[in-house]
Amino acid sequence: MKNKTFALFPRFSISSIYTLDFEKLYQKGYRALLFDIDNTLVLHDEPAREETVALFHRMQAAGFKTAVLSNNGVERVGAFQDRVRADLVIPNAGKPKAKAYLQAVEQFGIEKGQALFFGDQLFTDILGGNRAEVPTVLVKPMGKEKYFHILLKRILEKPFLLAYQRNHALFQEEITAVV
Ligand SMILES: [Mg+2]
Repeated sequence: MKNKTFALFPRFSISSIYTLDFEKLYQKGYRALLFDIDNTLVLHDEPAREETVALFHRMQAAGFKTAVLSNNGVERVGAFQDRVRADLVIPNAGKPKAKAYLQAVEQFGIEKGQALFFGDQLFTDILGGNRAEVPTVLVKPMGKEKYFHILLKRILEKPFLLAYQRNHALFQEEITAVV
């Protein structure tokens, strides 16, 4: 990792998790899919929807191990997990620390490069994944931010997103690259 800017750049960027072709991702060699919750899988503080439950079924049916790594607390994350039944759930994940990402990879017994981490925030989700050397996917935030501290981070993210966009496509439909 040469500098701070690079550490904030995701490997890929997609418009939504819900439209991904998981069979294709599995064929590319990925084995585990790790997720942020808020504004990545559902809106902030929103419970798991029917389509979220179906999404986890689809991923698991395709052969993937699934994990939820959230900086939110046990109550929020536990209620979410009761619905989606991920293979691993880590509340109070401490992103952007690398620990939770590394714990998931170790628990699943895979190489770091066989996992993908999906999140909507550069300063927590993407930075943490890059520190752990787990490939990161920036997801287009599902809704508008309702908390001031996240709104502030969105403003601070802007120049990094613009820099990223000079050489990369933002919010693509699919993940095209191979492991
Ligand atoms: Mg989030």
